[in-house]
Amino acid sequence: MLPPSVEEKAAAAVLNYNNSGLSVLEIPHRSEAFLEILHHARQLVKKILSLNNNMEVLFLQGGATMQFAQIPFNLLDEGRTAAYCNHGVWGEKAIKEAALFGEINIAASSSDRNYTYIQKELTLNGREDYLHITTNNTIEGTQWHSLPVVDVPLIADMSSDIFSRELDYNGLGLFYAGAQKNIGAAGVTLVVVNRHILPELKRKLPSILDYRNHIKAASLLNTAPVFAVYVSYLVLQWIDENGGVAAMQKRAAERADMLYRTIDSLPLFRSHVAVDDRSLMNAVFSIDDKTLEEAFIRFCEENGVMHIRGHRTAGGLRASMYNAMPLESVAKLCDLMRDFSHHNG
Ligand code: PMP
Repeated sequence: MLPPSVEEKAAAAVLNYNNSGLSVLEIPHRSEAFLEILHHARQLVKKILSLNNNMEVLFLQGGATMQFAQIPFNLLDEGRTAAYCNHGVWGEKAIKEAALFGEINIAASSSDRNYTYIQKELTLNGREDYLHITTNNTIEGTQWHSLPVVDVPLIADMSSDIFSRELDYNGLGLFYAGAQKNIGAAGVTLVVVNRHILPELKRKLPSILDYRNHIKAASLLNTAPVFAVYVSYLVLQWIDENGGVAAMQKRAAERADMLYRTIDSLPLFRSHVAVDDRSLMNAVFSIDDKTLEEAFIRFCEENGVMHIRGHRTAGGLRASMYNAMPLESVAKLCDLMRDFSHHNG
């Protein structure tokens, strides 16, 4: 979900960017106009997350999925070991890619209980070059509410909770997120990397996959996805003007609190996620009777609450509450849940 003001600005820019007579879809990626957009977008990321000068902000392509491969390609040299946490489908995919490059130590896993919690005790062997975690498990609805403290660079897939929380971002070695949830429109991926963690490698890298080249080129190594970066820029402005990550976190807590209270108060609905690890972005819950669950999904759609069906691999129900979602939308869902429960409980 994007803020309506962002959609309006993006729509206007498609017709005429800044009174230039050109559409934002037509401006070249090396034009003054785009260089300015890219520069301001990178600056805004630094400002919103209070990043220091070691942290390099890159807008890349290939989604978070590309990062699953690009991270070990750049950071896990031949014969070396990295630690990964396995707390869900996305972490599992990251592990699968990393295993192509080096030795993987699974430092923690919650696969024993169907990924319904975050295993926080880590088993590290002291030889790992980094630890990779998924801060918010989008499909399973769990979230690290405080990040693990380790001696190696911490690498975080923040695809579904970036810009929604206060953290010591400078304490991370690298973090990344596809734009399509809290940053903007699909088609661009934010990667922030502390340049001091990039090792000299034995392995040779294709230029496009080498973070150093992207840093040198100030995130303009090749044609950038101009429109996707522009929408990210508008969203970053919106976050900045609306109180930054502190305000986003407060809004997220209010929304999640309202929804989880409702789930817990209605016996028809269940959440299997460990209470302490519940995600503020994606509430995963279900109705035991699958016929009723289908009926509830239809009831929601008929009443304007869309995309409440759980991820295709998980089933059940999922309410995603990204940054732009107003509290009233969650209140509406809660009303529908009470109403449905009353008639079907
Ligand atoms: N990691 C997480 C936590 C995600 O939620 C997603 C997408 N939903 C991905 C990775 C994959 O992202 P992409 O489709 O941008 O490659």
